[in-house]
Amino acid sequence: MPNTQRVAPPGATIPVDQYDAIVIGAGISGLYLIYRLRKLGLSIRVFEAGSGVGGTWYWNRYPGARFDSESYSYGYSFSDELLQEWEWSEHFAAQPETLRYLEHVADKFDLRRDIQFNTKVIAANYDEVKKCWEVEMEEGMGARAQFLITAIGILSAPYIPDFDGIDSFAGDAWHTAAWPHEPVDFSTKRVGVIGTGATAVQLITEVAKNVGHLTVFQRTPNYCKPLRNGPIDAHRQAEIKASYPDIFKRCRETFGAFIHGFDERSALDVPAEERNAMFEALWSQPGFGFWLGNFSDILANEEANALVTEFVRTKIREQVTDPIVAEMLVPKNHGFGTRRVPLESGYYEAYNRDNVLLVDVRAAPIERITPTGIKTCAAEYNLDVIIYATGFDAVTGAFTQIDIRGEGGPALKDKWTDGPRTYLGMQSAGFPNLFTVVGPHNGATFCNLPRCIEQNVEWVSDCIGYMRDKNIERIAATPEAENAWTAHVNELVEETLFAKTDSWFMGTNIPGKKRSFLMYTGGSPSYRQKCDDVAANGYEGFVLD
Ligand SMILES: Cc1cc2nc3c(=O)[nH]c(=O)nc-3n(C[C@H](O)[C@H](O)[C@H](O)COP(=O)(O)OP(=O)(O)OC[C@H]3O[C@@H](n4cnc5c(N)ncnc54)[C@H](O)[C@@H]3O)c2cc1C
Repeated sequence: MPNTQRVAPPGATIPVDQYDAIVIGAGISGLYLIYRLRKLGLSIRVFEAGSGVGGTWYWNRYPGARFDSESYSYGYSFSDELLQEWEWSEHFAAQPETLRYLEHVADKFDLRRDIQFNTKVIAANYDEVKKCWEVEMEEGMGARAQFLITAIGILSAPYIPDFDGIDSFAGDAWHTAAWPHEPVDFSTKRVGVIGTGATAVQLITEVAKNVGHLTVFQRTPNYCKPLRNGPIDAHRQAEIKASYPDIFKRCRETFGAFIHGFDERSALDVPAEERNAMFEALWSQPGFGFWLGNFSDILANEEANALVTEFVRTKIREQVTDPIVAEMLVPKNHGFGTRRVPLESGYYEAYNRDNVLLVDVRAAPIERITPTGIKTCAAEYNLDVIIYATGFDAVTGAFTQIDIRGEGGPALKDKWTDGPRTYLGMQSAGFPNLFTVVGPHNGATFCNLPRCIEQNVEWVSDCIGYMRDKNIERIAATPEAENAWTAHVNELVEETLFAKTDSWFMGTNIPGKKRSFLMYTGGSPSYRQKCDDVAANGYEGFVLD
């Protein structure tokens, strides 16, 4: 039975509402949680910092923002009606369309009535006596629930380096994930972009098309592969609608839950001519096939990786007119695919324009932001606008911004100082009834996310349903299960080249953050199997009481 009555705790000065489950975040994960938990008859409250639904697609409104997953593999799969009525206009939809889609989902399933917008959760404490979570909001409210489920995203804590003088800049300045809701006109402006990751690659391409002057401040170039986007015509639309079961079956079988799956052969076992023909074929295909449909050892074996890396380096050089600029854009300190691969639609050509300048800030670091622009140790750049495409405190950042305290009062952020410690990426020992959807070490982190979000949400809601059926109040990961899972995650990554590369996957983009792999490289099918086995064995590795 829903129990949404108000509870006034002794001495409380703020109203505290009580629910069966509190969810933090109203992105793809949070919306699907409402849908599933409602079916169990639970009272739910979702707290969302933004003023609308959509999460990533609510915040990231910068020019060029779009996903790199095929549209028809990115939508929810749980409703046939939704699949048949929604028509993606492009193979890789842009942000406004994805936001419209998520708003449509929220309306269609009447999800908004359980969401409280403009509400940021700042603390969560587990009350061992009452066996419930007490949650505190920045806006001065409180709420309580048996279950707390974080749906706070892996790329939702924007990061801006602590540049000297940052507040002194007199022009406009935005992080890409805190973009204005109104269109911005750059046609007469001198714009500076700091960063050249996946977001920056999309943004720079778009801004370069209509800007007074653009200066790009690059620390680490990335290997960008052509996206090859295009509209979906009526014939293809019909084909897609008819083949959704096959699309989702395919996604269930592949490592990253994309339609692309690795070729199990080693790049080293294939004759050079055949190998290059395969590289060329994958290069000419849309999407991530060149990364996640390539020879399986390109991300594990340095020799195999070197082959694909050289192929991409040549492609980059071919696209940039000035050989000095081309060389600046060719990564030298890591191999292809070991960091998030940006997909591009004219990125390299942008540097062939006279009004686009590339500045190497590894060679000459940014010294400070000034009232009129950016000063590196080699030169000063006058700007009207600064865009921080400086990424996120990925995966754990949204967690450490909340003061989460479990049994006995330890803070989750302290527990994770040396890197996350979790069981299945779903719970951390000492934090009972706290489920971390798409949390660190969770299979959903290295994934075509909606596919793995659905798996996560279904697993969590099935678990809660099981507990309710059996009158179980509390589920807590054991320290032994947590140790084994954390060791497993770390062992798996050591077999790959990700472990040898600095990236946000490893947390190295954030000063002071412990170098530690934040994701899961065992692949989506094995993760799903492991979760299913745990559930089938009565939630093995958890204590239920
Ligand atoms: C630019 C960009 C491109 C991407 N492209 C792809 C792609 O091609 N394919 C892919 O699979 N994934 C992509 N992703 C990852 C993307 O985040 C996921 O696909 C998906 O949107 C995650 O949904 P989510 O609901 O789990 O998290 P999010 O969408 O991140 O939503 C989390 C929500 O939680 C809220 N929140 C966080 N902390 C608090 C708090 N303390 N209090 C209240 N609310 C809080 C946030 O405001 C946010 O709305 C991309 C991400 C970015 C940033």
